[in-house]
Amino acid sequence: MIGYPDALREVVSRARPLAGEPVPLAKALGRTLARDVRAGENIPPFTKATMDGYAVRAADTVPREGAAEVELRVIEDLPAGRVSRKTLGTGQAARIMTGAPLPKGADAVVMVEDTAPRDDGVRILRPAGPGDNIGQAGEDLKKGDLILDKGELVGPAEVGMLAALGQEPAWVARRPKVAVIATGDEIVEPGRKKRAGEIRNSNGPALHAAALQAGASVSYLGIARDREASLRAKLRRAAGADILVLSGGVSVGDYDLVKGGLREHGVRPVFWQVRIKPGKPVFFGVRGRQLVFGLPGNPTSAMVTFHLFVQPAIDRMLGRKTIGPRPGRAVLGQALSLKSGRMQFLRAVVQGEGPELRVIPYPDQRSGVLRSMVRSRVLIVVGAEVTRLDEGQAVDILFMD
Ligand code: AMP
Ligand code: MG
Repeated sequence: MIGYPDALREVVSRARPLAGEPVPLAKALGRTLARDVRAGENIPPFTKATMDGYAVRAADTVPREGAAEVELRVIEDLPAGRVSRKTLGTGQAARIMTGAPLPKGADAVVMVEDTAPRDDGVRILRPAGPGDNIGQAGEDLKKGDLILDKGELVGPAEVGMLAALGQEPAWVARRPKVAVIATGDEIVEPGRKKRAGEIRNSNGPALHAAALQAGASVSYLGIARDREASLRAKLRRAAGADILVLSGGVSVGDYDLVKGGLREHGVRPVFWQVRIKPGKPVFFGVRGRQLVFGLPGNPTSAMVTFHLFVQPAIDRMLGRKTIGPRPGRAVLGQALSLKSGRMQFLRAVVQGEGPELRVIPYPDQRSGVLRSMVRSRVLIVVGAEVTRLDEGQAVDILFMD
């Protein structure tokens, strides 16, 4: 049986970054940048007023010996968006609004609160120093600066930066196409009537949602029954997907047909069974470029193995800088005795708001208990050899959100 780090390497090394595509900025949120972004121009593009007031030559604002203040002649009015054609001469000022380009000859702005208008002039009540209340061209970004990296997730600030640089459309990685198939004779879709012995299909919708959250585009192909013909029909419909995710049927039960069915379908097995808890029966194989994951049917195992294996594959296809669930450290809120011989991923609740993160394992860690996933935000990662953890001890965690 393979260990988790090796299994993860097998997956990630087979996931190929996908090509980039243009998307309108309005749809770029949550996508991954496909290219480095450099400033094609200075930001701001011109030196401008950062206050409403008067553009001046700073030296002109200092009163002469014996004088209380200076009076300057106002030669024009500069609202934002207007470029002055004049050059400010000695003793002159221009009324200027925030955001307007500074006229030639000026090197400072006196804010309106420090002035008093007088006929066609203005009294300067407080002298300015060179550079006061102006924003220099390129002080935010210089032309050629690298500002966003390929592989970065686009959030609102990145959208703003792309917009400031005129990057419309933005170039982002194509979303991996993920096909989801649930398997089982006993499961029914959540909207349908349930008969004796049946349970609702929670894995189909949960895995669909997890793949969407990871940045994929998802097609849900429904339920394959525990018969070869039924599975075959579903597998044919998954042909165009980059990633195929199945749930159930990968254990050693009489009706666990997925491994055999996949093999017959041309999927080359890479590994089956990993030394982890939950999720030991997980299967991974490839069919050409398609990555195929057979996740265990138990709802918690299905979701945890999605985070551990499928999410990293999606991240890699997107060209993301960080692969897989975000790691962190936390303080264990209670002592734990463990016995497994497998690496464990304990569903855990985060307590309080810090300054240090405290985590408490959900009391019921059985893999059929979906409630643990609803309550938990993180997985505590515990090595196979660890038998005891003390309260207050630092532990490795993975964030699931
Ligand atoms: P399996 O891996 O097919 O042996 O399934 C293991 C357990 O998970 C069984 O109790 C199944 O009934 C349950 N299970 C399988 N598929 C689903 C599903 N799509 N939704 C909810 N539970 C499931
Ligand atoms: Mg089954």
